[in-house]
Amino acid sequence: MNTSITDIPETMKRATMICPKPQNSDNIEFSEEKVPRPGRGQVLLHIKKIGVCGSDIHVNHGTHATVPPEMYPLIQGHEYSAEIVETGDGVPAAILGKKAIARPQIVCGECPPCKRDDYHICNELKVEGFQAPGVAQDYFVTDESNVITFPDNFTHDQGTLVEPVSVAVHTMSRATEVKGKNVLVTGAGPIGNLVAQVAKANGAKKVLITDISDFRLEKATECKIDFVSNPKTEKLPDAIKRVFGNDGFDLAFECSAVQIALNGIVANINKGSEIIIVGCFTQPPVVDLAGLQDRELTLIGTLMYKHEDYENAVGLISEGKVLCDPLITDRFTFDQYLDAYNHIDENGEMSLKVIIDVND
Ligand SMILES: [Zn+2]
Ligand SMILES: [Zn+2]
Repeated sequence: MNTSITDIPETMKRATMICPKPQNSDNIEFSEEKVPRPGRGQVLLHIKKIGVCGSDIHVNHGTHATVPPEMYPLIQGHEYSAEIVETGDGVPAAILGKKAIARPQIVCGECPPCKRDDYHICNELKVEGFQAPGVAQDYFVTDESNVITFPDNFTHDQGTLVEPVSVAVHTMSRATEVKGKNVLVTGAGPIGNLVAQVAKANGAKKVLITDISDFRLEKATECKIDFVSNPKTEKLPDAIKRVFGNDGFDLAFECSAVQIALNGIVANINKGSEIIIVGCFTQPPVVDLAGLQDRELTLIGTLMYKHEDYENAVGLISEGKVLCDPLITDRFTFDQYLDAYNHIDENGEMSLKVIIDVND
């Protein structure tokens, strides 16, 4: 027997991306669908807010590396905040009414990465909102084992930022050590900003973030990131000197996916250091491997997150160690999904986190 806290309607609204925008600029279609109901071990989420992510924008443009043309039409939405309104058999009723998100990863459980508990890089990984249906609808069914609940005093805005904060938390686990390190973050978009904040929360000594957008750097300052620099007006070696003095920096997070930013890191980071690649390069960059070899640098990749990264993200937000509100630049209603994407395309650097209010 399912248990619910409200009357669940028969039908709901769904937004589907029918094709990439270059094919048809009116590429989001709304439909009336039957509300799904949770089975054993599952919960029904009432979606309150959805955040638009950089990868969603790539999907909108048809440039996402793991979303080929044949995958459209698709349902987006993987950054969100919801309320648990119904539980299936075998799920503790105590989580009813909680604010929550669910990890959007569908994994095989049998491949070598899954077997060593690195399910986030499963060989058969499907991510809801990309290779599997996402939450761009009023209701969504998910396994309870993927659910992360929020404290009651969490706002749905904070909840919506938990997914990207989890990305930032996971990047820290890819470094041998963050504590006590001087850290450079290139790119002050939402992920770069959050990576810098989480690095600080993880005990980094000094954190410098760079971006060519003064607006994004102002947001970084608003989020209490110690040092900012715009390479258009201050050369990177000068910024490094100003912030870190003769100590230099020992850890870098490349979050801009810009070749020249990567060049700057490789050329200036202390010998023997680690460089974590967070940004999604759409064109393969050229890396100075001679410099990498000669200076014993280590390049490290990072993808998504694991369950504990979500739990840590919720903790960091609720303790006020990561600020989310300054990142939210725009809001649209569910009916305005297409307007939200067009706004992002037209406003570029001035839009950081765009929120779709679905039911809040
Ligand atoms: Zn995302
Ligand atoms: Zn697997």
